[in-house]
Amino acid sequence: MFDGVEEKDAVAEKKRQYILSRLKDIHEKADLDDERVLVFCQPVYNIHEECFDTAEALMRLKLEETGMVFPDQFIPLAEEHDYIHTMSRIILHKTCVQIRNLLDAGFNVKRISVNFSISELHDENFCKEVEEIIGKTGIPYEKVAIELTETQDESDFLMVKSRIESLQSHGIKLYLDDFGTWYSNFLRIMELPFDIIKFDRSLVIAAMNSIKSETIVSYLAHMFSDMNYSVLYEGIETEEDEKKCIRMCARYLQGYKYSKPIPIEQLTEYFGKSA
Ligand code: C2E
Ligand code: CA
Ligand code: CA
Repeated sequence: MFDGVEEKDAVAEKKRQYILSRLKDIHEKADLDDERVLVFCQPVYNIHEECFDTAEALMRLKLEETGMVFPDQFIPLAEEHDYIHTMSRIILHKTCVQIRNLLDAGFNVKRISVNFSISELHDENFCKEVEEIIGKTGIPYEKVAIELTETQDESDFLMVKSRIESLQSHGIKLYLDDFGTWYSNFLRIMELPFDIIKFDRSLVIAAMNSIKSETIVSYLAHMFSDMNYSVLYEGIETEEDEKKCIRMCARYLQGYKYSKPIPIEQLTEYFGKSA
């Protein structure tokens, strides 16, 4: 039995080392069109407009020896070895190129959001680089949003605030990701001019399971809406989830009920065209 376990560990470790070597190679080549880095997208439903007009970009790797690799197997590695920013640059570039294609083909694309890790913001050139990548494709800055999670590190607060303000002064939108997964410091969040607050799936599940939780989640969503933030619920899987979140002040809905993440080119199946 122990042999079996050890063998499994050895196979997992070999795969980890292989993925790490490919991440290193992607980082060193720094090619924004690297074909190993794929953009998948999950369309987001806009309740007011009754259509899909935004989406979230989600990274995948396609490697020779392993085929498709999902974020849980490479994002922590890329963060740990400081390769994550190279990966984010590639995703941002490819997303902007595709937004350009969708707009040129007449699709109504309000925006697509891209995930960044808080550690990336420490670089003082962060905002300039992001603006350059978007600017090169000629799309309006407001077509791109950046998703950030809450930082637990109080010393990062002023830095994060100034980065957000700088990006927003160019028209780039900002989302707070995974709200509800950490102990949240509301007063701090309210000092940051996010456009959209993404309520994590754990809040949707909690609201489905107890009236008390539903009251709290609903209250929070109303509070954010009153403060001019839009509320997006993540992880909508069923019609019951959908109905409940609409009652809890949702502006946007995202989850498997509408679509799993799909290759970015397939967004044409969800986005509409102007008449
Ligand atoms: P996230 O940003 O919170 O992304 C949402 C995750 O939830 C995605 O997993 C998505 O496939 C999954 N999801 C969507 N709808 C549902 C649903 O109805 N039910 C459930 N249970 N899950 C749903 P994915 O694509 O595996 O990404 C996992 C995480 O990896 C992301 O969580 C994000 O933290 C990270 N990630 C993905 N792409 C990037 C990226 O380009 N850069 C960075 N820094 N992180 C990324
Ligand atoms: Ca996200
Ligand atoms: Ca999330």
